[in-house]
Amino acid sequence: MKTNRQASQEERGGVTRHSIPDNILFWLKIYWKWVPGVVLLAALELILGALVPLAGIYLPKLVLDQLAGHVTAAALIRTLGLWGLMMAVLYGVKGGLNGKYFVQNSVRGYIVPELFLKSLRISYEIPESEWGKKAYQEALGVAEGGDWCASTRTFEGTLAILQNILCFVLYSTVLSVLSPWVVLGLVVLSMLNILVIEKGLRFEDSMREREARHSRHWNYVLSAMGNMTAAKDVRIFGMHSWLGGIRDRVVGEMEEDKKAYQRLHNWQHAMHGLIGLVRDVAAYGYLIYSVSTRQIGVGDFVLYFGAVTGFSGFVTGMLYQVGDLKSARNATDYFRAYMALPEEVSEEEIKRMGAVTQSGQENSAEGGAPGIVFEDVSFAYKKEDGTPGEKVLEHFNLVISPGEKLALVGVNGAGKTTLVKLLCGLYQPDQGRVLINGRSRKEMAPGEWYQMLSVVFQEQLILPITIAENLSLRRREETDDNRAWAALEKAGLAETFVRQKLTLDTFIKKIISPKGIELSGGQQQRLMLARALYKDAPLLVLDEPTAALDPIAESEVYESYLRHSKGKTAIFISHRLASTRFSDRIILIDQGQIQEEGTHEQLMELGGTYAQMYQVQSSYYGQEAGA
Ligand code: ADP
Repeated sequence: MKTNRQASQEERGGVTRHSIPDNILFWLKIYWKWVPGVVLLAALELILGALVPLAGIYLPKLVLDQLAGHVTAAALIRTLGLWGLMMAVLYGVKGGLNGKYFVQNSVRGYIVPELFLKSLRISYEIPESEWGKKAYQEALGVAEGGDWCASTRTFEGTLAILQNILCFVLYSTVLSVLSPWVVLGLVVLSMLNILVIEKGLRFEDSMREREARHSRHWNYVLSAMGNMTAAKDVRIFGMHSWLGGIRDRVVGEMEEDKKAYQRLHNWQHAMHGLIGLVRDVAAYGYLIYSVSTRQIGVGDFVLYFGAVTGFSGFVTGMLYQVGDLKSARNATDYFRAYMALPEEVSEEEIKRMGAVTQSGQENSAEGGAPGIVFEDVSFAYKKEDGTPGEKVLEHFNLVISPGEKLALVGVNGAGKTTLVKLLCGLYQPDQGRVLINGRSRKEMAPGEWYQMLSVVFQEQLILPITIAENLSLRRREETDDNRAWAALEKAGLAETFVRQKLTLDTFIKKIISPKGIELSGGQQQRLMLARALYKDAPLLVLDEPTAALDPIAESEVYESYLRHSKGKTAIFISHRLASTRFSDRIILIDQGQIQEEGTHEQLMELGGTYAQMYQVQSSYYGQEAGA
């Protein structure tokens, strides 16, 4: 049995390449699933797209044949009337089918949320990894970019190719009645056209990297020249002529590229013209010869004339459409790889988590404050190629007793947040175990694990919805008002909100409601605190969400958090030591190891790194912050 982590590592090495027909089938199934009507309309469009032009070139033949056959005026008018009516209906239906475009586009509206919801169900480490970020961006290409997006291009490209094949078969059949040699000749000439186009495509491919480099240089020169910061240095260090020289070189290189393209296009035009001339002279010459020797009538002449003219576009058209399908392949492959990633939370589990949190059951989930154990934990983030990077934690051991208030301190990059991510079960250790109440993450459903945690992260998630919804992260009617006010009270926001006449229904930000309010930085921090208190989980974690606050305001937030964590296990993280000095135990982490541990007083007495850091910080912030 493969674990999620192993499976995701295999995927990271690369994305499975699917063949173009396989991708076509994949998209057809998706279109069929979301908007089956569009697939049927496309089939109708395909048939009409081939029949209408054919009817268009057949009509003059019919009229000429009737005239030559000396039919009565009434019969001629009847034929013309019937055909006119039929053509009008066909054109009308074909024109009406353009409306399918709008329904077809709605598929894109289904695909993006699918992708987004998928990213919520897979292991957290994937979207955070370099591979995951790249794969998500690439996969978005299936729906973003308007008509140029991979899903539309594959659908439209397939339709166009099928239409061209159908036209090719129909026109070849018509012309082969005249002479199979004419068909063969036309196919050979179309192949020559393809060679000319192919040469152009190969040239464009070879130019791509060169052009990208020139355009990067050009954009850099543009931004550097318009950059006010650089403007000072340009003047003072006299960079004008040097910059001007760079500009001239870059412009020169881009001019060269343009000339190369111009030469290619001229050559392509000349070749297409020549091939067209040969085709026309040969085909029309043969047609004129056939009429003059009475092998065919004037009506047939007109029919074949139209068929020869229409024929050449089909084969070359297919070349471009296959190119389109090829270029849509990358995004589709990434999309398929992303959607195939193993899920750690099923939709049922997500619904169950919602129902449990809503009913407030999580408070009593584990019956009081949990104990935590990090048992010989080693962990390294994966590099882009899937191999492990530098170890962040190595044989790390830590026991946190139920109800303990623990502080994790250490310089930036020491591994504090990584420890929290492991505790939250967002990452799994490479070695060792993380236990809550003696059970590891693998022994519990993800929802059961998350229920025990209230975490305030460094990044704030404040949504443009009501205060109530921001607290409960549930729908308004599922929010308990008393609990919400109690949380605001504890977080020190209730008084301010009442004074400003704000209610739980007040919107935050103006994106959804123009009457929405803007919260100050400090209020936002407190709102995050109130959210954690609203959830009221038995394990509280504060991962330095206050970095933007001044040291005194940060200290206040930590102290109020400490006050409200009675009966819970709590972990406080900060690189400002004044904020965490009241904790039961302080752990100084450095290079993935516990370097020092004890109470604030014990560590000060020890006179080690903690004491040094504390003294340096105190002298920065003054005695108020340090005392
Ligand atoms: P702290 O919270 O103590 O500042 P972190 O746990 O954020 O430290 O980071 C520990 C180390 O892990 C750092 O060297 C950091 O660069 C690295 N790191 C953190 N997050 C990632 C990530 N998503 N991918 C790769 N490396 C990471």
